[in-house]
Amino acid sequence: MKIALIITAQGELGERQLGEISYFINQSELVDPEFEIWRLAGAAPWIAENNLVALETHFLTAPQDLLLFPSGLRGTELATRLASRLQGLAFCGATKMISAEQVTFSRPIYGNAMVGCFSAGEKPWCVCVSRSSRPGALPAAATQKMLQLSNDFPPWLLEINRLEDIPRPALQRARCVLAVGQGVETLHNMERVKVLAQKLGAETGASRQVVMNAWCEMDRLIGMSGAMISPDVCIVAGVSGAAAFSAGIRDSTLIVAINNDENAAIFSQADVVIVDEMMPVLEALAEYSTQ
Ligand SMILES: Cc1cc2nc3c(=O)[nH]c(=O)nc-3n(C[C@H](O)[C@H](O)[C@H](O)COP(=O)(O)OP(=O)(O)OC[C@H]3O[C@@H](n4cnc5c(N)ncnc54)[C@H](O)[C@@H]3O)c2cc1C
Repeated sequence: MKIALIITAQGELGERQLGEISYFINQSELVDPEFEIWRLAGAAPWIAENNLVALETHFLTAPQDLLLFPSGLRGTELATRLASRLQGLAFCGATKMISAEQVTFSRPIYGNAMVGCFSAGEKPWCVCVSRSSRPGALPAAATQKMLQLSNDFPPWLLEINRLEDIPRPALQRARCVLAVGQGVETLHNMERVKVLAQKLGAETGASRQVVMNAWCEMDRLIGMSGAMISPDVCIVAGVSGAAAFSAGIRDSTLIVAINNDENAAIFSQADVVIVDEMMPVLEALAEYSTQ
């Protein structure tokens, strides 16, 4: 099986992409794999169109069974659009591949609650791997190819606005977050939570239940469908700890969970556990922090 590892960035980020794709390969069961590393390089690497032209042109001279892209928006876009051009399969967020009699790819589904296995369709398989912070060992005997991107803009591209300079939303930048769930019980309590968060020097976040009740703005939603946060301290109050919410706070350094149910799932993720009514505890914490 011929496999290309597509690296879209230079330097440290490029090496991280390589580690991430190698991790996918290490997890997979591959029959007779032959590896090539394709490094995309050029003056304007963010123009997907130029990447696609370079990939498609090179693919025609060196066809592959499997093309592996790094995680993230860029990898997703390139994998999906290249599959469409080559009339192959696009698959995103893959954790591993089994190439036995029937080739399958797996990835987490239903908010990480289950793992789904999907049988592969038409080749080539353009697969964007899932995010991994653990770099895998590079496959032995991988040959390297440099794919030069055109420096010309496609004719339909009139203007480019770089988004890197736009600051990330406050919730994602915050060093301290107070995230509340359905346990907050009323809009009135939610208003009070916002005041307490200010006293604690925290940004307010909310579970989907709270946002759906219109007790809090949509841009405060934390979890799979909202913001993925990584504060130093995350205080989670009145949240049950559903997988879809928990995914959003897992990169926090310290998680303090408050819940009146001692069996709440959120406690398994917490560093500090407080079994109590959330509002009196938050009042006390805010009072303590202002002293
Ligand atoms: C595809 C999909 C995507 C989703 N994406 C998200 C997402 O991004 N973010 C998200 O949050 N959810 C998401 N959900 C919903 C998620 O599965 C849960 O339903 C939701 O997170 C539950 O919110 P909650 O914990 O606030 O409410 P509940 O599950 O109702 O939990 C409330 C908790 O508060 C506790 N409590 C009650 N009263 C008090 C009190 N007075 N003091 C202390 N504790 C109290 C209870 O013991 C309970 O544990 C998604 C679901 C699906 C299917």
